[in-house]
Amino acid sequence: MVFNIVLFGAPGSGKGTQSTLLAEKFGLVHLSTGDLLRAEVQKGSSLGIQIDSYISKGNLVPDNLIVDMLAAVLDSNEGAKGFIFDGFPRTTDQAAALKKMLAVKGTDVALMINLSVGEEELINRLLYRGISSGRTDDNYETIQHRIKVYHEKTAPVKAFYESLGCAVDIDGTGSLSEIFERIQSAVNAVINT
Ligand code: AMP
Repeated sequence: MVFNIVLFGAPGSGKGTQSTLLAEKFGLVHLSTGDLLRAEVQKGSSLGIQIDSYISKGNLVPDNLIVDMLAAVLDSNEGAKGFIFDGFPRTTDQAAALKKMLAVKGTDVALMINLSVGEEELINRLLYRGISSGRTDDNYETIQHRIKVYHEKTAPVKAFYESLGCAVDIDGTGSLSEIFERIQSAVNAVINT
């Protein structure tokens, strides 16, 4: 059985860290669109330069570009036990595109985990990460904009999965292991049904 998880939440909610732990624990492929985009930027390609103009301002990269990139990665991972989508989908159009892409492969999203963290803590975490991350978007002004974009464009994705009946809310505060315990229980509850 292919088991796909969407790890959802605002910037700074801990999606990346928890996705890494989950991927290891359940043998799934971790797909972070942010990491894939930053790798393209690193290459210095003309596509990378274009991508960087969105990321560094805290804006979303256009849907068509993201969906094409993701389709290619899915195709190159045929035979995977399942995927953890981290930072994707970020719009309801992306969510619909993902559903279609997975349907072609005879699978779907089994679980959408919403990591919930208060806004003040999100900002503090991102500012702290900015000290060492070297990311162009981890500064106060861009963080504010990313959170605004999250509310306007990404938050509606939650309702998309709620209407499909596969969304769970998880408290994203506390220690990494406490949060991971909560996530594991949610995953096990779906695996065991
Ligand atoms: P992240 O690493 O998930 O925080 O993403 C960093 C930045 O990459 C975002 O602020 C967007 O500019 C871009 N990005 C990542 N994933 C997506 C996506 N699914 N759709 C559009 N833009 C994205």
